[in-house]
Amino acid sequence: MTAPSAARPAPVRSRPRLRKLSTAAPEPVADGVWLLRGGLTRTMNVYLIEETDGSGVTVYDTGEKGMAGAIVGAARRFGGLTRVVLGHADTDHRGSAPALRAYADVLCHPDAVVQAEGSGGRDYWRMDELPVGVRLLHGFTHRYVWDGGPVHIDGTVDEGDVIAGFDVIDLSGHAPGQIGLWRKHDRVALVSDCFYMNDMYGRPQAPAPPLDPYNLDTAQARRSIAKLAALEPAIVLPGHLGPLTGPDVVAQLEAAAGDATSVGAEL
Ligand SMILES: [Zn+2]
Repeated sequence: MTAPSAARPAPVRSRPRLRKLSTAAPEPVADGVWLLRGGLTRTMNVYLIEETDGSGVTVYDTGEKGMAGAIVGAARRFGGLTRVVLGHADTDHRGSAPALRAYADVLCHPDAVVQAEGSGGRDYWRMDELPVGVRLLHGFTHRYVWDGGPVHIDGTVDEGDVIAGFDVIDLSGHAPGQIGLWRKHDRVALVSDCFYMNDMYGRPQAPAPPLDPYNLDTAQARRSIAKLAALEPAIVLPGHLGPLTGPDVVAQLEAAAGDATSVGAEL
């Protein structure tokens, strides 16, 4: 596979009506954080985070490719797009990223670069382990609805870096170099696909580890859920559906992690 071009694409052209079809209006979910729910079933989450210096918004995850116009339009209301951070590089999270490079740099964890600039997860997924109906549906949507294709990565971020007032945390396992954003003072976490609140058919469910056929390392994915639980978040903003909030957030995350320690000990 050839590397994606580093040249900037042309600005996104989209009609307001199409934008509304692809994505709901921005929804405030935490101080300075806005959720854009996209896709036909509104299960694709993109977050806008106001920069602490007021210069605009960081985009965290980019949903499916049809959301690009809506993301740009929403970002304009907050002063424009300052940077795009991929929580991980799966096709339904990098979908709009190539188009958004017209406006800002696209960043991800060093371990996610190969997938962002390459197959978007396809080269380690085990789709043959999915039920046949799901395999056909996902195969179609990954290719024709979700994926905007390989995206040139302009720079990397890692645990210890700070983005728009949030600390970068490593939540790998589901995907290589999956990262979350954590703000300690109000206990807000943005976590991409650290856990799922929908099943393989898109139906809502209690938080659970991502499906094994889509994971690079399910044991590590469980340890990342346990790591998130140990932070004791008050509100968790996942890559699909959510938010996860309320008095039992930590208990729900611990249940999703299962016995992550013993899983790790077996390896
Ligand atoms: Zn996802």
